Amino acid sequence: NRNFYVLVEGRAEANPTDVLLELESGETLSAQWLHKLCGSYASVFRRLGCAVGDRVAVQVEKSAHAFALYLACLRAGLCYLPINTAYRSAELAYLLKDAQPSFLLRGPNTEALPDMTVPRSTKVLTFGIRGEGTFASLVKAGETSFSTVELNGAAPAALLYTSGTTGRPKGALISHAALSYTAQTLSRLWGFSSSDVLLHALPIFHSHGLFISFNVALAGGARILLQNKFDVSPVLDAIPRSTVFMGVPTYYHRLLTCPSLASSLCRNMRLFISGSAPLSAPMHRDFETRTGHRILERYGLTEAMILCSNPLEGDRRPGSVGLPIPGVDLRIAGERDEALPVGQVGIIQARGPGLFSGYWNNAEQTKAELTADGFFRTGDMGLVDEKGYVSITGRAKDLIISGGYNVYPAEVEAVIDELTSVKESAVVGATHADFGECVVAFVIASDKSDPPSESEVIQQVKRNMASYKTPKKVIVVDDFPRNAMGKVLKKELRTTLADFPT
Ligand code: ATP
Repeated sequence: NRNFYVLVEGRAEANPTDVLLELESGETLSAQWLHKLCGSYASVFRRLGCAVGDRVAVQVEKSAHAFALYLACLRAGLCYLPINTAYRSAELAYLLKDAQPSFLLRGPNTEALPDMTVPRSTKVLTFGIRGEGTFASLVKAGETSFSTVELNGAAPAALLYTSGTTGRPKGALISHAALSYTAQTLSRLWGFSSSDVLLHALPIFHSHGLFISFNVALAGGARILLQNKFDVSPVLDAIPRSTVFMGVPTYYHRLLTCPSLASSLCRNMRLFISGSAPLSAPMHRDFETRTGHRILERYGLTEAMILCSNPLEGDRRPGSVGLPIPGVDLRIAGERDEALPVGQVGIIQARGPGLFSGYWNNAEQTKAELTADGFFRTGDMGLVDEKGYVSITGRAKDLIISGGYNVYPAEVEAVIDELTSVKESAVVGATHADFGECVVAFVIASDKSDPPSESEVIQQVKRNMASYKTPKKVIVVDDFPRNAMGKVLKKELRTTLADFPT
């Protein structure tokens, strides 16, 4: 049986008292507890007439019960569709119309939805952080066994929408085989074992928190210390009891602002991992100075799980996302999908067992994003060096062409970020009468009372780069528009440019 759920079953059967989850209250929950709850939930779906492949949309707060709901869907052969808890009715309506799920589960106290939001064929149920609500009322006492649906690896496990950083979110179909490969490969690659405690503070409506952090720890036999959201102080409190932490760069930024982040606090930790957005080289170095740990940066996408990772043993390079993981075939391609030589910037293309099965209801887009030989066009630009390390230079959609020359935003951002007066930068293109486009740098000051001057930033780039990469304008802001994963929304930054004529 290639159902991903067999991993949970295996853990529960091998050692029923094995602690799988630990809550903020200190309460511990065993693999057997999770397995039984999944049995109850999967039985409800079966009784309600759900058929293999039906979508179950879930917009609920993170909790141990929410993990059980996710796993129960997989167990019953249903296609799990997690939705960002911050999405309001218009965003929800778009996803529901596209996915046509059989069920929508929502928190008990969420805003009432306008009639038009939910398709007529979708049944709405409530589900709280202890599992309470109208879904729970359908659970039959004592009904905890369920025979896991037999599936082949290609069967859809989830319909996961991209973050919508560059456009409308796209629904990526993820197979059971892609989940199993990713969880098993990464748990080996990152050295997971039953002595690990993963500190889990990521949201679970995104691939990072669900398919990477949770699934990898599950496959590796680790205990998962569950925090319902990322807050600096509980995370710092839990670090001494943890061995692995996974986060987005924004989390590391915030941790670095706390004086108590020091090597003594991290004595028990063996690994800090970062992904979902670029981690700047200065932040990588600051973190090492403060804690003695070199963050392991990795790179992934909703459509392709994880493609690259810095090594567990060996050189973890600041500013690089590391090497393709086992099973991943990666190339830097030119306009005609041809592989470009070492050191040349092009589109990152990849294929491997973690790749999605296609966009939901969108064969045309699926075809457009896949090459004739089965490589996925990631939409990211980057290069590979002679040792095989991959660096991302930005998204193709964010590429700036100034006077006919390509400017890769990440390259300019890396140079600006080296200024101690700059906490973070984001470079975008603005229309320019003469050059077509020109470079504009948005910066966040390290010290708000003493922001960098425009000429300081311009001189820094001039000293280090060709003149066409020099910003024509530098705009100091308090923060950047970001999505739930802390990703900078460059599309929104570009729209604000009208307020700052170049
Ligand atoms: P959309 O496709 O709707 O615009 P999105 O691409 O942000 O949304 P995700 O799948 O969540 O959706 O994000 C994947 C993207 O995140 C990658 O394509 C890449 O641009 C970025 N990314 C992930 N990890 C890293 C990393 N370590 N360094 C730089 N960028 C990263």
